[in-house]
Amino acid sequence: MRRKFIFVTGGVLSSVGKGIVTSSIGKMLQVRGYKVTAIKIDPYVNVDSGTMNPYMHGEVFVTEDGGETDLDIGWYERFLDVDLPRENNITTGQVYLAVIERERRGDYLGKCVQIIPHVTDEIKARIRRVAKKSGADIVLVEVGGTVGDIEGLPFLEAIRQMRLEEGFRNTLYVHVALVPILDVTGEMKTKPLQHSVQELRRIGIQPDIIVARCTKMINDEAKYKIALFGTIPEEAVFCSYTVPLVYQVPLILDEQGMGDYICKRLGLEAREPDWGSWRKLVDAYLNPLYELRIALVGKYAELADAYISMNEAFKHSGMALRTKVDIDYIRAEELEESPGDVERLKDYDGIFVPYGFGPRGAEGKIMAIQFARENDIPFLGICYGFQLAVVEFARHVCGLKGAHTTEVDPDTPHPVVGLMPEQRNVAHKGGTMRLGAHDIILKKGTRAYMLYGRERIRERHRHRWEVNPDYIPLLQARGLVFSGTSPDGRRMEVLELPSHYFFMASQFHAEFKSRPGKPSPLYTGFVKACLDRRLGRPRPELEVVPRLCYGLRAEVKAA
Ligand code: GLN
Repeated sequence: MRRKFIFVTGGVLSSVGKGIVTSSIGKMLQVRGYKVTAIKIDPYVNVDSGTMNPYMHGEVFVTEDGGETDLDIGWYERFLDVDLPRENNITTGQVYLAVIERERRGDYLGKCVQIIPHVTDEIKARIRRVAKKSGADIVLVEVGGTVGDIEGLPFLEAIRQMRLEEGFRNTLYVHVALVPILDVTGEMKTKPLQHSVQELRRIGIQPDIIVARCTKMINDEAKYKIALFGTIPEEAVFCSYTVPLVYQVPLILDEQGMGDYICKRLGLEAREPDWGSWRKLVDAYLNPLYELRIALVGKYAELADAYISMNEAFKHSGMALRTKVDIDYIRAEELEESPGDVERLKDYDGIFVPYGFGPRGAEGKIMAIQFARENDIPFLGICYGFQLAVVEFARHVCGLKGAHTTEVDPDTPHPVVGLMPEQRNVAHKGGTMRLGAHDIILKKGTRAYMLYGRERIRERHRHRWEVNPDYIPLLQARGLVFSGTSPDGRRMEVLELPSHYFFMASQFHAEFKSRPGKPSPLYTGFVKACLDRRLGRPRPELEVVPRLCYGLRAEVKAA
């Protein structure tokens, strides 16, 4: 079978859920037995998303091989349950960097280097390289931004050319655009969508499929108009309407016939989709037996996009435990401004301190950690949350006044968290943190070991600072257990307080590997502890969690 390419573009405005639609298309084909991969194109000039702050761009997703990528790569991984390499995120920065380096080397000697063909050739070569390496039957290519953006033009031109080169039956253009509903009349307005299709045609791309993003299922009239003005049959118009859970999107699109339509159009063998296990997960989420409230004390609290993978990790753990996990975002700075507010944290089943950078909100996070520790409220810290848990313990249990991370206070008398030696002379900020998956050894008999059920694990990282080895003996003497370290024992990776109901933190980002049906053991352990405490159960049995991580049985029976 010749490899098929599906290109996804977006219209009207960004953030209409193109990434979810792309992931959903992948899922529809995957449950029909096809091997799928997905590529995200980001037309900005940054080489990767690592140098942007979460306000600009949402979370930076980290791949197994250490790429700092767009958060849509995270959606592809969660929907398709695959580990994608960093090359699956293509940016203008990467493309131009490659072309300009080649020009300087003299590879184009004598030629005038131009957007067409040199830049577009580089884009196509990158798409094909990823496609080949993946061995996928079907390659999804999502073009970020909105049709009509200047910076997206070379990419649209490249995918236009790919139809000519790959053939009609091997390429498919899907356009996703917003259909707003007017408050006043309740009318579904297709005009902006019509204009974005026009814009796409101006570049020479006629969509084969249009997905209307709407809060409700579009009515017949809207469908008729979209088909008419989009010049496609009505059966090629689908609607991604708002559902409580993103993982429902592939199901609702497939119910409308999208999977079969794509197969037919691409000349793929029609196969019966197997939605069995996916549907079970969705049902587990939609019909919970328990509910929990967790406080996320962070710096980017106003922007849920900054914590997408963490949010999803809580959902995955919640599905496994039939528990609805509500996350309340609490601005760490608020706690600094009015310290009495920390008492509010008593109302929560658990306290969570996520990743972060820089001084803003650090003291507020430390306050939240202290509150969790002193009141025996289940606590989980990730990355910066791990480092600040060490700072908190050093200050308040070990009596090291002014202890800090040198990231915030370079002159602290007690640098319990410091720059890793290999980070000290790093001049370039892009792509130079400790990134990607590294092995971790868990100590037998600890909670970390029990949660993972094995000694050697691999989790993903993104940090420059780490626990200062000079302080480890003192921290340990006061009861802090480092239950996970790098294989050489030099880097501290997991901490826990055995005396506490549940108090754990990790230097790694366990959320990046969490998927529906395969939740992170660490997050699941935390959610389970919050639930147990809420239900008045004794401290969680160490053995219970790993069993739950791989099935949905136990809790359901218990209810
Ligand atoms: N700022 C800390 C570091 O660079 C933590 C990073 C993070 O939370 N991802 O080490």
